[in-house]
Amino acid sequence: MLKRTAQNTILVAGGAGFVGSHLCETLLRQGHRVICLDSFLTGSMENVQALCNFREFRLIRQDVVEPLRLSEQVQQIYNLASPASPPQYQADPVHTMMTNVVGTQNLLALAEAHGARFLQASTSEVYGDPEIHPQPEDYRGNVSCTGSRACYDEGKRAAETLCFDYRRRDRADVRVARIFNTYGPHMRPDDGRIVSNLLVQALQGVPLTIYGTGAQTRSFCYVTDLVAGLMALMAVDEAPEGAINLGNPGEFTIAELADLVQRLVPSAAGVVHRPLPEDDPRRRRPDISRAKRLLGWEPRVPLSEGLPQTAAWFARHLGRTLPAPLR
Ligand code: NAD
Ligand code: UDP
Repeated sequence: MLKRTAQNTILVAGGAGFVGSHLCETLLRQGHRVICLDSFLTGSMENVQALCNFREFRLIRQDVVEPLRLSEQVQQIYNLASPASPPQYQADPVHTMMTNVVGTQNLLALAEAHGARFLQASTSEVYGDPEIHPQPEDYRGNVSCTGSRACYDEGKRAAETLCFDYRRRDRADVRVARIFNTYGPHMRPDDGRIVSNLLVQALQGVPLTIYGTGAQTRSFCYVTDLVAGLMALMAVDEAPEGAINLGNPGEFTIAELADLVQRLVPSAAGVVHRPLPEDDPRRRRPDISRAKRLLGWEPRVPLSEGLPQTAAWFARHLGRTLPAPLR
């Protein structure tokens, strides 16, 4: 049972996306009023359909790059508005950069005008292809500013700069979460990210695509854990100095992940190797000591639990029967 707290009116930009829709639902279940602002670039009406049954839910279709005005007072703003999957953020790179820079500025100005707390969804991509492993928050990263990932990585880095400049000038009470790879229900089947790709391919009986050798690593956080971390960061009275990593430190190679998926959703199709995308980080794992110490937060759902739950959701979503897993 979720604990009820005093009611706030909370703006969730990007609330119709994968993470945002879970966040909106959890906030509504805690009794808050939620305004979801989304352009539906990568989000979907399906993700928020059930939320429209809550009296306290309001949906605004708008691009954050356009000037923002709200008719009601908000106490908190979560900025999740940005495509997060590499093929999606690279589809219109200039718009991705503008979303993260102009969009974040628009939302920060709104936070200033409303005296609202502001939480920025930043990313582990600010560390680029890291030379330090695992990545602590004080690592400054190894990012290309000219490559095909730069529209997102550098957009998110500039967004962090804006956040901390607002904070230094006391213009807004800002918190920044650096989110590591997150997965779960509500990812789009055609999202292009690894967990959705592999599960959908296995369910459709087509070969699992591994880019490069599959030796690169990622650390996978289940979406409910991430939402708990975001809300814990928003809830602390004193915003922590600097950004906070949120992710699950369990680290897997992509080949290991493909193997887990094949055990869970057996298919005869096997795997196929495709070229490694440009600037693909070789490894990634969060150091979450600060989140543990300052927020009392750590993830609870290991991949061995979250992956079957996500597979079951995709099977329902795609109208497929989940085959018996291999032991
Ligand atoms: P998503 O693509 O599912 O959701 C993003 C949402 O933002 C979508 O609903 C989309 O329509 C909306 N959006 C995009 N551009 C917009 C714009 N210009 N104006 C208004 N709405 C816009 O992605 P997600 O996985 O839910 O990620 C949410 C946030 O968390 C993003 O900011 C992302 O950068 C960050 N993040 C996610 C992950 C992850 O693994 N899921 C990792 C690191 C950071
Ligand atoms: N990847 C893969 N096959 C896919 C999709 C992704 O091998 O079908 C790889 C990708 O090259 C990267 C890792 O899986 O090394 C994670 O990719 P994703 O797009 O999920 O997120 P990233 O961490 O790269 O932003």
